[in-house]
Amino acid sequence: MRYGILGDIHSNLSALESVLTALDREGVDVVLSVGDIVGYGAAPSECIALLRERGVRPVMGNHDAACLQLLDTRYFNNYARAAVEWTRERIGAEEREWLLSAPLVLHFDHCSVSHGTLFRPELFDYIQSPTDADPSLDVMPLPVCFVGHTHVPVTLLRLREDPTRTAYTVDYEVDVDEALRALVNVGSVGQPRDEDPRAAYAVFDSDAGRVWIKRVEYDIRTEAQRIHDAGLPAMLADRLYLGV
Ligand code: ZN
Repeated sequence: MRYGILGDIHSNLSALESVLTALDREGVDVVLSVGDIVGYGAAPSECIALLRERGVRPVMGNHDAACLQLLDTRYFNNYARAAVEWTRERIGAEEREWLLSAPLVLHFDHCSVSHGTLFRPELFDYIQSPTDADPSLDVMPLPVCFVGHTHVPVTLLRLREDPTRTAYTVDYEVDVDEALRALVNVGSVGQPRDEDPRAAYAVFDSDAGRVWIKRVEYDIRTEAQRIHDAGLPAMLADRLYLGV
């Protein structure tokens, strides 16, 4: 089975369209989203419509939860909070319903999906080191789990030869069968933060036991203009050019 995995889309329609076009060429059987579909960008309804049309299976991210008023924005920075408030006023009842139907965790035949961590996903903690990954690696019911949240692609591995050690790789092709468990951060479709402004997505082939992180160019100028036109903070447009 071939899975396409979309990380942190953040209402970036041009990036989402480019990634879906690329996924069409990959021949995937199912498309998953690790959450944060909305927030930051200026096309929440358009992104939700595209994802629904494609039958994408999402989990809930912290920005989605904040837009649904399920999460306090006290710990959000000012830009993020402004975008959450802007988004709340723009999404309709049916879109809200669809976002609300996303669980915190999904388990498929060959992989699990969560936004930040698999261990206590409701906390929306960040995995930024092997130590951060250990509680999630400990509770993984399947050998592969996909996450997002940091907007930086990286794979954390519990190795067969030494299960007491958690390793990591930033390689774009990972043989997940080599490891006992692999926790894969797929990066971000709509707001990459690894200084590569191209949209990121992942493909997982469960038969081949391999995960690929892929990057695709998209029309940043159009998306930045959309953010300016919406009256959202200019910083949210500027950062797209830099991938930060
Ligand atoms: Zn995010």
